[in-house]
Amino acid sequence: MSDVLALSKALIERASVTPDDDGCQAMLASRLSRAGFACESLRFGDVDNLWATHGSEGPVLVFLGHTDVVPSGPREAWASDPFVPTERDGLLYGRGAADMKGSVAAFVVALEQFVAAHPQHRGTVAMLVTSDEEGDAIDGVRRVADVFRERGQRIDWCVTGEPSSKAKLGDLLRVGRRGTLSATMTIRGIQGHVAYPDKARNPIHQALPALDELVARRWDEGFETFPPTSLQISNIHAGTGANNVIPGEMQVLFNLRFNPNWSAAQLEAECEAIFRKHALEYAIHWHRGGEPFHTPEGPLRAAARETLAEIAGSAPEESTGGGTSDARFIAPLGAQCVEIGPVNASIHKVDEHVSIADLEALPGLYLALMRRLLA
Ligand SMILES: [Zn+2]
Repeated sequence: MSDVLALSKALIERASVTPDDDGCQAMLASRLSRAGFACESLRFGDVDNLWATHGSEGPVLVFLGHTDVVPSGPREAWASDPFVPTERDGLLYGRGAADMKGSVAAFVVALEQFVAAHPQHRGTVAMLVTSDEEGDAIDGVRRVADVFRERGQRIDWCVTGEPSSKAKLGDLLRVGRRGTLSATMTIRGIQGHVAYPDKARNPIHQALPALDELVARRWDEGFETFPPTSLQISNIHAGTGANNVIPGEMQVLFNLRFNPNWSAAQLEAECEAIFRKHALEYAIHWHRGGEPFHTPEGPLRAAARETLAEIAGSAPEESTGGGTSDARFIAPLGAQCVEIGPVNASIHKVDEHVSIADLEALPGLYLALMRRLLA
């Protein structure tokens, strides 16, 4: 059995459901320590983070990942136990196989091979993994980035192993992510009898024109490879359950996915200007999930593109699609960030799996990228 397959299986056997690392990082640290890496555990609250480095100068290349997984859901829905790694028809099944224990195992194997072959390499190679990527993402990479900021730890290049490929390994290179901003809003009216509307104030009637303006707005036309900024209302709730009562308030949840034309603060101001224009009486709670980031043409993006072209046989699509990732906390440190990982078709689903051939190709891919940048 290949080294990367064995290590992936050892990780999948540990039921590290967010934020429980369940010993995964200790296993990774013992391997990397043996290979000459300095390993530091950074535990915040219930969350384990591992920071492993080899070298002390710049440029600093970091492989970023997570050891936690989303819950498996009901065991009966899976063809085999989600925490018993199982091979079937060239695929490795188990929770985290694709997202992203396979990539983390590939990081470790690639880093070991790189420092063995290039003990005097340029700069620093490093790995940062957290056990809180799938959860609240508060005590994970967000907190570690604060520590890096305090210490003056620079990061030049960051490679996230999130499952990014579409149909085959290496067909997509992620070069940025949109920002995400959520709002929980309460519009206040005055409750009353529907027969006496003059003695009440209907928050639904007041909110609808404002919400209509909000959803009709064209925020921008996109940004380079980023799609246009979009706002989606995800929940509207009001009412007492009785048909003869004007409700006293209404709740609205909405989320914006935005490109680098905007910051979260600007979008909040734009939305609130619309609410004020419509004279709504409201309270709003904003949650800034992450600012957008974008890696322009440069050494990392070029090296990643060339490496993927070599592996996949043709140049990758360069995309900024999908949700957000932990790279959003590393990018503000001034790092260029790309994401390269296996096919994402089964992530977070039952019967999550990764192609064993892809898994076995991953360490070579990460190794080739390190050679291009730091050998
Ligand atoms: Zn993931």
